[in-house]
Amino acid sequence: MQLRKKKRFFTIMIIPHTEESIVSIRIPLYLFQTLSIILLISLLFSFVWIKSYQQLKGEAAEISQLRGENRNLNEHIDLLARETEELIRKVEQMDELSREICNLMELPPPEKKSDSYPIRLVYNENIRALPSRGENQVIERTALNISYLQVSIPEKNGELLQLKEDVEEYQKQMAATPSIWPARGRVTSEFGPRLSPVTRRREFHFGIDIAGQRGIPILAAADGKVVFAAYRRGFGNTIIINHGYSLSTLYAHLKSFNVPAGSEVKKGQVIGYMGSTGYSTGAHLHYEVHKKGIAVNPRGYLP
Ligand SMILES: [Zn+2]
Repeated sequence: MQLRKKKRFFTIMIIPHTEESIVSIRIPLYLFQTLSIILLISLLFSFVWIKSYQQLKGEAAEISQLRGENRNLNEHIDLLARETEELIRKVEQMDELSREICNLMELPPPEKKSDSYPIRLVYNENIRALPSRGENQVIERTALNISYLQVSIPEKNGELLQLKEDVEEYQKQMAATPSIWPARGRVTSEFGPRLSPVTRRREFHFGIDIAGQRGIPILAAADGKVVFAAYRRGFGNTIIINHGYSLSTLYAHLKSFNVPAGSEVKKGQVIGYMGSTGYSTGAHLHYEVHKKGIAVNPRGYLP
């Protein structure tokens, strides 16, 4: 028996509304099915393509936005880098200033604790020529600069506090060092060997004599404490001031006292009045400076 395969067809008929004859297209069913599948697949591909296109379009907009943000960020990083640089320059200026202050005060310069100076970034436009690597470099160096500032600013603060203490100590020492004329007048006898005006014998004169008008003020040559204010044989009315730092001054032949023993006095304060008490041939001040208990030439402590 012969099996006869029946061919199946699909017929499309086009019937015009005029008198023209009917056009009928006979398409084998398998062709129709194949065409339908191709159409379906094409539709599916088109859909996928449109979806991807939309997605890509979205991503492109995002990329453009990100680029803008990146540019802004880079500008901010550059600004931060420059500001950090500026801070380092200011710290260096502070260094310079404290060194100058030390010089002026004749103090030793502040000790540097950390030598770990960072690789300093000198901001330069060439960095812009290498956008990604350049910015990374800027960030790395800025981070280094910031860590340097984190160490150096507290260190600088410590140095300045030390400097403040040193300056205060220096001022205290200066105030306690005889440096002014204790009386107005003319020097009639210097420190050193001489013929005594009273005994006419050779003697060593342990101070200088300043002759002036009786009753004129006698001033403390430096800050200190009056440790003696009384009559002493030979010296007459005498004041001794202890200034600390192994220094003391003696004022003799006073007419009278203006401060009692035990009082604290300031440089330039009136402590008594010029007279001629004790072994004296006329109104004058006998002024002595003692360092570590030894009389030294007062000229070294006069302006
Ligand atoms: Zn004298």
